Amino acid sequence: MISEVLSEIHLIQRQLADFNSRLSRGPKLIRLQESTVKQITARLEETRAEYHQLYQQAKFKEEQLTKREATLARRKTQMQEAKNNKEFQALKLQVSADETANSTLAEDALEAIEKAEKFAPNVAVIEQELQQVNETLKKTQESFSKEVPVIQASITQYSKRLKEAEKKLPGEFLNLYIRLARSMGGEQALASISSEQFCGGCRQIVPINFIAQVVQGKPVTCKSCGRILYVPEGFTVK
Ligand SMILES: [Zn+2]
Repeated sequence: MISEVLSEIHLIQRQLADFNSRLSRGPKLIRLQESTVKQITARLEETRAEYHQLYQQAKFKEEQLTKREATLARRKTQMQEAKNNKEFQALKLQVSADETANSTLAEDALEAIEKAEKFAPNVAVIEQELQQVNETLKKTQESFSKEVPVIQASITQYSKRLKEAEKKLPGEFLNLYIRLARSMGGEQALASISSEQFCGGCRQIVPINFIAQVVQGKPVTCKSCGRILYVPEGFTVK
């Protein structure tokens, strides 16, 4: 019966479509994951730069403080070695001003260090995130490269089976099928009629006289979607 042949062809076509979609899914997923890696890498670089800047600021303030403390120590010595009271008083004023300035600077430096230290975990978090995404990408690449030859072998096998099945089509079906398979794609050229009389391709009702012709083994296309109609095994109208 012709419906059996069409049903067999349709099944093989659907399986081929599935294999092909699996083949294209891998590279799509890999591209997506690669772009995520890129985004996180960029974010990591920015965050590292930000941390570096905070760290440099803190270090600069610390160095400044060290220098100023050395100056202060020198002034204190000068003060003790002052030759007269006038010089002593002048140095004493200077020392007092320096002490105030240094204490502010010390607070500043401490604050800057704390800020840098507080920021440091941000870098670690992104590093970890990047590592995870890279691992996922690697796994996807590995599993896909294993999957590809298996899928390709299946495609070869099913393509052979399709050719064999297509040989069983009588002339009036073959030309129509080839034309539709070319224009709509193999899987889309055929549709089964459900027991509720729906076209399996477009879900529209197939008129009963169309169904009768299909059952009689005539080439009939769905009037709304244009697919070649067939009835599944054991078909009865509800
Ligand atoms: Zn239809």
